[in-house]
Order: sequence, then C-alpha cells, then structure tokens
Amino acid sequence: MNRQQEFVLRTLEERDIRFVRLWFTDVLGTLKSVSVAPAELEAAFEEGIGFDGSAIEGFARVFESDMVAMPDPATFQVFPFEGGGLHSAGPESARMFCDIRQPDGSDSWADPRHVLRRALSKAAEKGFTFYTHPEIEFFLLSDVPADGDVPTPVDAGGYFDHTTHAVARDFRRQAVLSLERIGISVEFSHHEVAPGQQEIDLRYADALTTADNIMTFRHVVKEVAVSHGVHATFMPKPFTDQPGSGMHTHLSLFEGERNAFHDPGDPTKLSKVGKAFIAGLLVHAREYTAITNQWVNSYKRLFPQALPDRITESPAYVCWGHLNRSALVRVPAYGKPNSARVEIRSLDSACNPYLAFAILLGAGMKGIEEGYELPPGAEDDVWSLSDAERRAMGYQTLPENLSEAIDVLAKSEFVAEVLGEHVFDFFIRNKRSEWEEYRREVTPFERRRYLRSL
Ligand code: GLU
Ligand code: MG
Ligand code: MG
Repeated sequence: MNRQQEFVLRTLEERDIRFVRLWFTDVLGTLKSVSVAPAELEAAFEEGIGFDGSAIEGFARVFESDMVAMPDPATFQVFPFEGGGLHSAGPESARMFCDIRQPDGSDSWADPRHVLRRALSKAAEKGFTFYTHPEIEFFLLSDVPADGDVPTPVDAGGYFDHTTHAVARDFRRQAVLSLERIGISVEFSHHEVAPGQQEIDLRYADALTTADNIMTFRHVVKEVAVSHGVHATFMPKPFTDQPGSGMHTHLSLFEGERNAFHDPGDPTKLSKVGKAFIAGLLVHAREYTAITNQWVNSYKRLFPQALPDRITESPAYVCWGHLNRSALVRVPAYGKPNSARVEIRSLDSACNPYLAFAILLGAGMKGIEEGYELPPGAEDDVWSLSDAERRAMGYQTLPENLSEAIDVLAKSEFVAEVLGEHVFDFFIRNKRSEWEEYRREVTPFERRRYLRSL
C-alpha cells in the first residue's frame, strides 16, 4: 500500500467515518456513486470494486460488461457535512474519484477520466501541463414542473445584484463555504443576468483536478439548493426569453513554472505557442462542438439572441478577440505573465468536463504541433455583421443544432483520435437517438403557431 492509501485508511479510522463514496462519471457526464464500508477499502485499493459496466451509459457492451472501479487516493476528501448543508449535523462521509479498469487491469477506454488523462499525458510528453478555470452558471428555481412547464426562478435579480435577493445570496454564501471546506477554492460568486441565475467561478487548477471539482461542484450546489428548499439546474437554456447557462473556461499551458502563452516581446503579449493553441481551438471548433454542447437544448443557447431587454452573450461564430464577447475565444487582458490565458465561451454548464477538457487540449495541441496560423482577431461585434460580411472575413458558424453538430463530429478524425473509437462511436449513436426522439415530438411552438392559422 502506498502512503496516500495509508493516509486515507488512517483518516477514516481517526474520524470514525462510516461511508466512503466512490465516484466516477459516465460518458454523458452523469455522476455515479457506490458506497463502501471502510473495512472494504484496503481490498478496494488492491483489486478495485467490480460493477456491471453495461448498466452505465457508454461503458460497455453487454458481452464484456465486467468493469472495475479503482479509487484514486489523491482525490480523497472528507465531506464534513452530510447532504451538502453546512448546518446539517449528520455524520461525516468521504469520497474518492475512481479510474475504471477492465478485469485484466488495463484502462477502460470508456472512462471519461481516462480520456482526459490520455490527452494530458500526450501534452506532458511535449513538456506542457494544462490548467483550466471554469465560470459556472446555473439557475436556482423554486419549482421543477414534471410536465415540461416553465419553472419559476427564485428571484427577479440581475447581474451582480446583492441585497434584495436573500435566497440567492444565502445560498451562494453557503455553497461557497461548503466548497471551500472540501478543498475547492472559489474565486468569485455573483448573481448573473437572468432572474434566479447564479455564477460561481472556481480557481484555476490542473485540468483533471478541475474536472473532478466540477463534478463535485454540481453535486454540492444541488444539495445546498435542496437544503434551502429550492432547486439548482445546469440545463443550458431553461427559459426562452432569458440568457442560458454557459461554462466559459479559461485555458492555459505551462512549461514547468512558466506560462507558455505569454511573450512580453509580442505586441499582443501572446507567445507563438499561445497563438497556435488558439488557432487549433478555432480550426477544430465545429468538429468538437457536440462535446462542449452535448444536448438538444444546448443549441437554444449557442447564438446571441435579442431578448426583450438585452442581447445574450453566447457565441455563434468561430473567431477570437480581446474584448469581443460574441467571439468563441477571448483573450482577456491580464497583469502577471503567469496569468496569460484564453477564454473559450461555447461550453455550457451541462457538458462532460473530462471530455470537454480533453478535446480542447487536443485541439490546441494540434494547433501547436502542426503550426497553425492564427487569423486576425475580430474586434467588431461579429453578430451585427451580415452573413456576406462574415463569409468575406472567413468566420464559420458553429453548428446550429445537435444534428448538425453530430454530423460534423462524425466526420472528424481528430475527435475520434482524442476520444478513442469506443467513446466516439457510443457518443454518435447516443446523440443521434436523442435527436431522433426530439425530432418526432410536436412542440407547443407548433401548436401555437399552426393549430389556428392553417
Ligand atoms: N450567460 C452567458 C452565456 O450563456 C454568459 C454571460 C457572461 O458573459 O458571463 O454564455
Ligand atoms: Mg457569466
Ligand atoms: Mg466569461
């Protein structure tokens, strides 16, 4: 047993923890959990915990269903509250993320954590570590109607609103305190633009830690919401007339201690590596959009829309800029050299963070390896240009719906390579069937529009 494993066992004993939750994530980004008694953990470290992979979305075909979850002791965390609430007096529990193995001990090609690890080690071979920092938006609702009716946001607040919206404010304070107590550092939290909409930004960390943190975040936020008698949703676009929930993510590469995106000598302050990385994000953007925006509903957010009193700020065009919030990639102004980074704005809060980070890193690394040229930045509001102007400037449009996104993804050798054939094939099959289900459904829009008029 190694020292991390010993530390885990000692902590469980010292703190009299009875439940250890082993977590992993399916291909669509759903958190899975199995509890083990502390007495079983020593064996679990050695042999893992067996489970039926065919029952997990995307994991295995039925004839090869045995899978093993191996707890990663580096992710061990005591949860000093049961149910997410800081005030709840329940017993302590603990959790670890798992890597999924096949019965013969080899890595499972279906495990999203493995897909990300593989992308990270390819980048490490070139001397790079990959850091990410997500801005996570979500809605707090006072009800979730089961029949698909419009839900009620908990408040009527807007961007940065403070005093008048007590539920949201108390909720944010408790969510942030709970996250901090389990070792997840929060940089900012505030009310977002739409009624009931919140944003919490996590401090940057290596991409595997961030992806684990996002999964933990979603769980804690939902639990804290329930303890306040409200519901949190990460659905990308719950309301027709309000902005959706994005997960803008800041990306950077480090070579040792040095930020590889920074070059003080360049007029843009971006290094050759930084420029090629952005070029990679742009060149492959249409191919990977189905990964960063994986649901039918994601595409109701993914274009700027003129709402009754504002324009939403989600991207639709494949371009980059410094100030431009309609661009897919933005390079924020920064002070310290090590803060050089790029912000990608397409991701939504319901993506699988492991797959999304793997594909973004893969696209950026391809730009570096193949020496892609960065096109000039877009400083106009790209949304207000005409189609012809945008075409003349070479700005492609992101896929307009899940079906188009899957068609582009299905032709991409690049995506197949980053995801691996198994995840790639499963994803395409699963998303095509989601689209078919959606396609056959007659919507309230159609009845409103056509029942009387035709
Ligand atoms: N909610 C917007 C989106 O869907 C982002 C607003 C912001 O700039 O933070 O991307
Ligand atoms: Mg925001
Ligand atoms: Mg942002």
